[in-house]
Formats: sequence, C-alpha cells, structure tokens
Amino acid sequence: MSRLEVSGLRAAVDGFEILRGVDLEVESGQVHVVMGPNGSGKSTLSHVVMGRGDYTVTGGSVRLDGEELLGLPTWQRAARGLFLAMQYPVAVPGVPAGEVVAAAARARGVDPAVVLDRIGAEAARLEVRDEFLARGVNDEFSGGEQKRMETLQLAVLEPRIAVLDEIDSGLDVDALSDVARRVEAMTEEHDLGVLAITHYARLLDKLRPDRIHVLMAGRIVASGGPELAQQLEATGYEGLAADLGIEEMSLRRPVAVDPFAEPGF
Ligand code: ADP
Ligand code: MG
Repeated sequence: MSRLEVSGLRAAVDGFEILRGVDLEVESGQVHVVMGPNGSGKSTLSHVVMGRGDYTVTGGSVRLDGEELLGLPTWQRAARGLFLAMQYPVAVPGVPAGEVVAAAARARGVDPAVVLDRIGAEAARLEVRDEFLARGVNDEFSGGEQKRMETLQLAVLEPRIAVLDEIDSGLDVDALSDVARRVEAMTEEHDLGVLAITHYARLLDKLRPDRIHVLMAGRIVASGGPELAQQLEATGYEGLAADLGIEEMSLRRPVAVDPFAEPGF
C-alpha cells in the first residue's frame, strides 16, 4: 500500500508563482484526475512532483509513503516508485527506446533475466512494433506512438504511483482505448495509484476515477466524484469559475514595464 501526499505545494518559475498551495492524496489502486483550463498549472504540478529542475519549490511538501521527496533528484523519486508520463515527452534521437526502457527497468530492480521478455510482452499487448523499440526515444514518433511507448514503460517499470499528463492527447479512439485499458489493468493487477491529468471525459469512461480535482490558477478549487467531470462538460470551466466567484482561471505572468519605452503622449 502506497500513498502520495502533496500538501500546500507552491512552486515558481523565474520568480513567478505557478502553484499556489496544492493539496492532493493518491493511494494505491486509486485513480485521481486533475482537470483544469490551459495554463492553470497542471503540467507544472506533474513536473514539480517528479523533481524537474527549473521550478523553485516555495512551500509545501510531496511525500511518498511518508518520505519527503522534495530535495531528491528525479532518478531517486523514480527508484522509489514514482513515474511520470510527460505531456510532451522528450525525443532522444540515437538512443534506442527499448534500451532505455530496459535500463530503467533494471535500475528499478526488475530481474535482468526477465526484462527483455517483459518488454516484448508489453509491446505485443500495446501494439508497439519492434521497429519502435529499436528507434531513438520518441524520434519522429507520432502522438499515438509516443503515448503507447510511455504506457509500455509504465507497464514494464511497475511503479507505485504514476502521474499521467494528458496521456490521452493526440490519440485516436483505438489507441486511447488500448492505453486506458492498460493503465486500468495496472490499477487492478498491481495496485497502481494514478494521478491523471486530462481534458477529456472519454478517458474517464475507461479509467473510472475515484476523485476529480479542478485546478485553476495554481490551486485546486473543487474536488468531487466522477459527476464533477460530467458537470464540467455541461458548464465548462467558466461556469464553474462563475459559481465559485473565481476571476482568473489561468495564470498570467505580470507584464514587465519597460522603463525605456516611448511614453504614450
Ligand atoms: P497547464 O499544463 O495547466 O496547461 P502549465 O503548468 O504548463 O499549465 O503552465 C502554467 C503556467 O506556467 C503557464 O502560464 C506557463 O506559461 C507557465 N510555465 C510553466 N512552466 C514554465 C517554465 N518552465 N518557464 C516559464 N513559464 C512556465
Ligand atoms: Mg499541460
């Protein structure tokens, strides 16, 4: 049984605060979903949880099974069982994707004797052809191929908690169903806990979330059961923001004043 606890999390980039006190808890076997308008801080949340370097954490904590992760490098968070499927996975031409997955699996403690079989089995299950395992990581992969490969990594690595940042974006209906079904099976067979960021209720039909959270301007402004996603489909974020009396849904960087600009008179 594992638990990811994000509490009072604040983070900034270049002195501009993007996360402004986020609280969330995800336990093994649960699916939590974060929805929210563009620019509200969803990807930032995923990166800060995983430990990307260009964000400065200005407050709060991120704990996995009681252990503080803030301050640990990304690879140590991964070794403890945290996984991130990025919204825009990085391409690394020349470094074969299959080798990266195999190295990550060995580092995660998967028996080296079974790593290749496991990758092969997952590739078959997710319809990832061998050609993609031999190609550079995400090198000229289509959106769907990238997300299948992210899901393959997830399945091979068997993390405790996975953060999936728009794993459904750019997927056709078949790919969406393959990816969502594989993740759903992980929650049942391996007790995986999932924090899924998405815009689409159609992912939720397959993933069957326990909780939905709405992030606006760096804060969770509403949480509820699956019905909250239905409500959002009907009202949109603007409707919810109006109900809650929220003026800004997304974050707006203050416009720097140029002291040398021509005066307007
Ligand atoms: P979402 O994923 O909800 O669409 P993001 O977390 O990507 O939102 O971005 C939230 C805000 O923070 C945006 O205004 C974005 O431009 C800004 N931001 C995020 N990451 C960076 C970064 N590394 N450098 C500068 N600005 C950033
Ligand atoms: Mg995003």
